[in-house]
Amino acid sequence: MRKLICRICGAIIDDKNYFYNAEAFEGKNTLDNISFCPFCGAPRKYMISKNENAEEQKYNFDAGSLKIIDHAYKLEIFNGDFYDKVSKLAANIQIKNMFRSLSRVEYVHANIHRKIGGFTVKPKLKSLDYSKYKSDGELLNMACKREKHAVEYYERYADKMNDYQVKKIFDVLAKVEKMHIDLTKKAN
Ligand SMILES: [Zn+2]
Repeated sequence: MRKLICRICGAIIDDKNYFYNAEAFEGKNTLDNISFCPFCGAPRKYMISKNENAEEQKYNFDAGSLKIIDHAYKLEIFNGDFYDKVSKLAANIQIKNMFRSLSRVEYVHANIHRKIGGFTVKPKLKSLDYSKYKSDGELLNMACKREKHAVEYYERYADKMNDYQVKKIFDVLAKVEKMHIDLTKKAN
């Protein structure tokens, strides 16, 4: 396959990685039909061929916008960490694998915000213990709640971002998190 670049997360998609994180997606990429980025979940229309010239994005945010991006960065790290931890607690192997893939995708989202915000320090977040949740059902409910919160966040702030590219990123991520709501509901 032709190498593609995802304009949302910057990943290069090729024949060695197009199938990554499959458990975190509803659709399926095949070698001759790539429909989403296996790293961040952005749809195909946000990809360009590797030979095309992608100009480097430069951002200049006011304090308010930067704060919104910083919060999104923390939200995604928090969710990435959550999925990583609950992937170790889940009993069902499919749910375990889905959590693991979702963790990777949320960390990619965090990295998108880190790059656009130019953040150099990884925020220290309170380490939470989820071991009191005794069943996969409880873990899935908690996951679903977090995804709903993420969707609300992106939808609330997408319109407040003056930068067109960032607005687009928020729109795309809202849709990806919506799919995560579906996945966590269906698995439950
Ligand atoms: Zn991507």
